[in-house]
Amino acid sequence: MPVEQALERLLALADAAPIEGTEQVPLADAEGRVLAMALVAGLDLPPWPNSAMDGYAMRLSDWQGEPLPVSQRIFAGHAPAPLQPGTCARIFTGAPLPEGADCVEMQENAEVLADQRVRFLAPLKVGQNVRPQGQETRAGETVLDKGTRLGPIELGLAASLGCARLEVVRRVRVAVLSTGDELVEPGLPLGPGQIYNSNRRLLASWLQRLGCEVVDVGILADDLELTRQCLAGLGDVDLILSTGGVSVGEADYLGIALREAGELALWKLAIKPGKPLTFGHYRGVPVIGLPGNPASTLVTFGLLTRPYLLRRQGVQAVTPLQFSVPAGFDWPKAGTRREYLRGRIEQGQARIYKNQSSGVLRSAAWAEGLVEVREGQTPHCGDSVQFIPLSELLG
Ligand code: AMP
Ligand code: MG
Repeated sequence: MPVEQALERLLALADAAPIEGTEQVPLADAEGRVLAMALVAGLDLPPWPNSAMDGYAMRLSDWQGEPLPVSQRIFAGHAPAPLQPGTCARIFTGAPLPEGADCVEMQENAEVLADQRVRFLAPLKVGQNVRPQGQETRAGETVLDKGTRLGPIELGLAASLGCARLEVVRRVRVAVLSTGDELVEPGLPLGPGQIYNSNRRLLASWLQRLGCEVVDVGILADDLELTRQCLAGLGDVDLILSTGGVSVGEADYLGIALREAGELALWKLAIKPGKPLTFGHYRGVPVIGLPGNPASTLVTFGLLTRPYLLRRQGVQAVTPLQFSVPAGFDWPKAGTRREYLRGRIEQGQARIYKNQSSGVLRSAAWAEGLVEVREGQTPHCGDSVQFIPLSELLG
């Protein structure tokens, strides 16, 4: 199955199972969450005309070119009196323009005379150095659409409109389970044939960044009865996310136990790393089974599971930004699967990590992004390849 088709299917499944339920959270807790309703401005921004400069406010039609006396000083945060005809007002950046004034001259173009009157040096225009009321936003305008993911900029914007709380989609509850008799948690000694469980931490940390609630199931031994018990005890989750145990030929206890109370399809994806991926349902709960090799887990989570999880929260734009970059390597052998090489950009060219084995997570720690080599292609140094920054996928 081509990567695009797998993504299309997953997004359709996500559209059919939107997360229902919203909650109001303070801005401080809204990072990474998804807006459940459009954010509509409750006020004009700026709320009143104000000065863009430190300088002098005046009314242009009143002025014949003569020096003007200063009738008041207006600081940011203070309400001015109406401008006295035939005078100017000392004004500072962000301070409200006094009624009757229509322009501001910056202090660099003004000269204070010995008698404290101010002479203006450059020609002036109406509206000069004035930020008009509502220039950014008018009350009633939609500034953020429903389905927007909230990051520092969106939260700053909400704050500028005086919002203290936002209505967001409730957190997606994701059960994370790692399968394999060989797995041991960090901190414990390694026995013969054992390795440390890296996927659990990789996925749990990543899911937290995506605003999900992680139900951490830990390690599932390769044992049918234990697997049944674990699944039965899962409780109320929105997705079961497993790693490992889907390689062909393996005693697939998770697959067996899942099928006993649901259905499960094995997708053979045209993706490398990460060929086998399962999708199904267990007691009505969607299940995604990712391959166990950590670099495969990373690629299939980033390119397929992340968009699925975002879409379930109503996010429409789930495609990561990518761009073309000249290859800084030769790829002589065409593949039948689309490869996502862990690479970085050096001197304007994509370089790839020396070991692209699906078991090598270090490749991704070295990398800044995924370099895409499409099916059947053999890029050489200087040919264009697509580059997806990891930063696009991790947040
Ligand atoms: P599997 O799909 O279970 O056959 O696993 C494929 C490979 O990934 C094997 O080498 C496993 O040891 C390894 N693997 C599976 N799960 C994990 C995990 N959670 N952390 C690190 N390596 C894993
Ligand atoms: Mg296994």
